[in-house]
Amino acid sequence: MQLLDGKAISAQIKSEIKIEVEKWIASGGKKPHLAAILVGQDGASETYVASKIRSCEEIGFTSTLLKFDSDTSEEELLKAVESLNQDPDVDGFIVQLPLPKHISENTVMEAVDPKKDVDGFHPINVGRMCKGLPAYISATPFGILEMLIRAGIETSGKHCVVIGRSQIVGLPMSILMQRNDYPGNCTVTITHSKTKNLKEICQTADILIVALGRPEFVTADYIKEGAVVIDVGITRVEDATKKSGFAIKGDVNFADVAPKSSYITPVPGGVGLMTICGLLTNTLKAARKEIYA
Ligand code: NAP
Repeated sequence: MQLLDGKAISAQIKSEIKIEVEKWIASGGKKPHLAAILVGQDGASETYVASKIRSCEEIGFTSTLLKFDSDTSEEELLKAVESLNQDPDVDGFIVQLPLPKHISENTVMEAVDPKKDVDGFHPINVGRMCKGLPAYISATPFGILEMLIRAGIETSGKHCVVIGRSQIVGLPMSILMQRNDYPGNCTVTITHSKTKNLKEICQTADILIVALGRPEFVTADYIKEGAVVIDVGITRVEDATKKSGFAIKGDVNFADVAPKSSYITPVPGGVGLMTICGLLTNTLKAARKEIYA
């Protein structure tokens, strides 16, 4: 078994981006600028956004955080989105999900200028990705592809099973793994909560991508000997032995599954760190106008 070490790979990618930023600025380019909108006081969202902002500082981006109370109206939020759309200094921005229930995530996502949609959630970016056109690929799928590339994992002709069909992970991941490219050219099965015989389907996976949000759901009996196992899950579970009072768990029971797998991502220290790299890469592309003129 080999560990797909998100900590080491993401540190490498960040140092590469830092060099690219220095070159870009030396050639007269503007410092890339990522803005983030955070609504409410969700602990996990605050942690994710803080880590995104910290990463921007590490690699030489400008960053801006706009915080809103949880009772902010959809109209107010849409005004903030529009002002970032119009701000010539902001290259890309994200609206941290989830949003409070009274705000439509789809409406907000569609209000973001696709040229600045570095999370890759706007239907135009999703549609372009499906057609194989240049697009911002959403950060978590992007991070997973990068892990497969850097470990040199063969994907062509393999059976890839994706657990979960969310708009931000499972669905784009399934599209990317079947495209005629590397990584890709897999035969893909996408599964969800209504799937029958989930365990039997997983047992046929050469590559298993797990994104359902149920801690330690996947155990060794789901795994074919030698499978590549990518654990996207991040759930906070109470743990009195931790200073914070909680531990972070993936969707895969790591200790059980690792001995059967050829490659596996740990949680924490796996896909989560790669997601930030996806966002930073997209922001650099936005600053250099690589996707849209
Ligand atoms: P989501 O929107 O809640 O979607 C979960 C998916 O899993 C749904 O498609 C659901 O099916 C399916 N599902 C639920 N229970 C199932 C079961 N028993 N068997 C088969 N499928 C089942 O979740 P998400 O946003 O994709 O996130 C999934 C996990 O990844 C969460 O732990 C989240 O925190 C984590 N995450 C991590 C990162 C990262 O950077 N590492 C990024 C995003 C998300 P239905 O469609 O039928 O409901």
